[in-house]
Amino acid sequence: MRYSIFSLAANALTGHKHWTPAWRDAAPKPAYDAIVVGGGGHGLATAYYLAKEHGLTNIAVLEKGWIGSGNAGRNTTIIRSNYMLDGNIPFYEWSMKLWEGLEQDFNYNAMVSQRGVLNLCHTDAQRDAMARRGNAMRLHGVDAELLDRAAVEKMCPFLNFDHARFPIQGGLLQARGGTARHDAVVWGYARGASDRGVDIVQNCEVTGFLRDASGAVVGVQTSRGEIRAKKVGLAVAGSTSRLGDMAGLRLPIESHILQAFVTEALKPLIPGVITFGAGHFYISQSDKGGLVFGGDLDGYNSYAQRGNLPAVEEICESGMALMPMIGRVRLLRHWGGIMDMSQDGSPIIDKTPIPGLYLNAGWCYGGFKATPASGWCFAHLMARDEPHHTATAYRLDRFATGHLIDEKGQGAQPNLH
Ligand SMILES: Cc1cc2nc3c(=O)[nH]c(=O)nc-3n(C[C@H](O)[C@H](O)[C@H](O)COP(=O)(O)OP(=O)(O)OC[C@H]3O[C@@H](n4cnc5c(N)ncnc54)[C@H](O)[C@@H]3O)c2cc1C
Repeated sequence: MRYSIFSLAANALTGHKHWTPAWRDAAPKPAYDAIVVGGGGHGLATAYYLAKEHGLTNIAVLEKGWIGSGNAGRNTTIIRSNYMLDGNIPFYEWSMKLWEGLEQDFNYNAMVSQRGVLNLCHTDAQRDAMARRGNAMRLHGVDAELLDRAAVEKMCPFLNFDHARFPIQGGLLQARGGTARHDAVVWGYARGASDRGVDIVQNCEVTGFLRDASGAVVGVQTSRGEIRAKKVGLAVAGSTSRLGDMAGLRLPIESHILQAFVTEALKPLIPGVITFGAGHFYISQSDKGGLVFGGDLDGYNSYAQRGNLPAVEEICESGMALMPMIGRVRLLRHWGGIMDMSQDGSPIIDKTPIPGLYLNAGWCYGGFKATPASGWCFAHLMARDEPHHTATAYRLDRFATGHLIDEKGQGAQPNLH
């Protein structure tokens, strides 16, 4: 069913009884041409582009819970392409361009809202680093604007500009950055993939891999039986090291918890996304009015989808340092998701040394913004066995060869640097 003003009007006039389900909850078949493990944004986007761009429709997405139950449904929804290194900028800018046309492309309202991402700076050195990053972005054709203190003050008068330790000197603005509704991104990709014949199989946990005599992966063992496939792609975010272990792969990934928070609804206050440059804290405001914010990782390794109180305390303290009036707002909820932290902080989209097994991982805490390009590039790799030109740097062997893409020089544990 196509969504349009006409379908909305027709359904409104007939009591909303004729809407059809957005996507099919399929039962697994015994075999597919390709399987994508993980029904988060990346897995579903991969399936969508495999079907749409490469004509591969005999494929399944296998999800152990319900689609969007992982990080795709738990993140703070920020999208941006304000990177600095050559390996990263073209990929994230491609993602931004896909975001800009996404809703028309998959005919679903993902609430993509380009209200700007502002990174604040608090020292001369930080301002110089931001100028350098902004220049690198502009050299790649990405929008970036260096703001002085007066411009930031005009945009966000509620910030604490004269904090004795962290006075705000200015900021780097990417006006095309912003937010998108995370659940809707999952549902939109699921709908688009399902419409093209992809089986979306929920409650189907992959528990092992089927191998032939040569060692190649030829399918998966699941909680719903064996399923054969010529190609298997992993897009399981925080569970990557677990799935890798099942295949005998030791990966350069650590799993950590990242928490997010939402407050009671306020009148419109925060114009876009704001990040604190002197601590790990970022904030935006949802369309419902809640302040949505987050900060640093919980410092220990974990596969639990819940965090701990020291990180809550530190993140709330950072918020208070940046905008003291936030202390008067009540927190409604907070939750955690499992991050697949790579050792250089950049992702992996590559074949593994095992024939038939492909890897999409290492998104750390920034993979939501990458969802469209990650799906696009992983689909390209799985369909053609060669990397997409924007993702050639995201090789698995860079950790052995030393060709790291260390954008922030902080690797898997930014909280220790
Ligand atoms: C609190 C928080 C805030 C964040 N904020 C941002 C942000 O503002 N901007 C940004 O760009 N990124 C952000 N991120 C990161 C982003 O959410 C992730 O990098 C991204 O969602 C990961 O890709 P995914 O959507 O495919 O992952 P997921 O949604 O986690 O998908 C992986 C799926 O694999 C499934 N799975 C795991 N094991 C198996 C198995 N054995 N068999 C079958 N299925 C399995 C899981 O159930 C899960 O549904 C944030 C993350 C969190 C937790």
